[in-house]
Amino acid sequence: MKCPACSVTLDSKSIQDIAVDECPRCMGTWFQDDELRKAKDSADSDLNWMDFEVWKHTDRFKAVGGTLGCPKCSGSLVRINYDNTGVEIDCCPQCKGIWLDKGEFKKITDALTDELLTKSFSDYVKASLEEAKEVLTGPESFLSEWRDFLTVCRMMNYRLFTENPKLLDTMAAIQRANPIQ
Ligand SMILES: [Zn+2]
Ligand SMILES: [Zn+2]
Repeated sequence: MKCPACSVTLDSKSIQDIAVDECPRCMGTWFQDDELRKAKDSADSDLNWMDFEVWKHTDRFKAVGGTLGCPKCSGSLVRINYDNTGVEIDCCPQCKGIWLDKGEFKKITDALTDELLTKSFSDYVKASLEEAKEVLTGPESFLSEWRDFLTVCRMMNYRLFTENPKLLDTMAAIQRANPIQ
C-alpha cells in the first residue's frame, strides 16, 4: 500500500499484535478495519465500557470531502471532525480504514483527556466507574487507560462505522461526490 499523503510505500508494523501500516516519510498511520476488529476481540472485556461514553453525540460529527485517496481501495478518504476537539481524521466509508496524520493520535488522546476532565464526574463517569471498578485503582489509572492505543482506535472505528449509520451514509455520499483522480 502507498501513503495517501506522499505516495511512498507504507511499512507494516505491529502494535500489541495488531498490524498497522506506517509511512516512513510523513509518519502517518493506516488502520485497517479487520485489524481493529481483531483488537476488539482480543481486548480485555473489562475495558468494553469505554466504548459507550465518549463522542456520543452523532450531530457533532462533521464530514467533508478530503484530498487523499484511500490506500486500500480506489475511493477518496472523507475527513471527519468532532465538535471543537481539534481532532481530524480521514477515513474510508467503503473499506472502513482510518488514516491518522502524524500527531493526530496525540490530539485524539488529548481531546479524550480534556473531555474526561471537564465533564462532571458525578453524571458522566460514575456509572462507568461502577462497571469498571475491578480494573481501576484510582483516577490516575483511569485516565491512563484512555491513552491505550488500541482502545482508542477501536472506539473511533466503532463510533464512525457501527454506531452511526447515518454518518456512514453521509461519508459514502461525500466519497462518491469527491472522486480522486
Ligand atoms: Zn506519507
Ligand atoms: Zn477504502
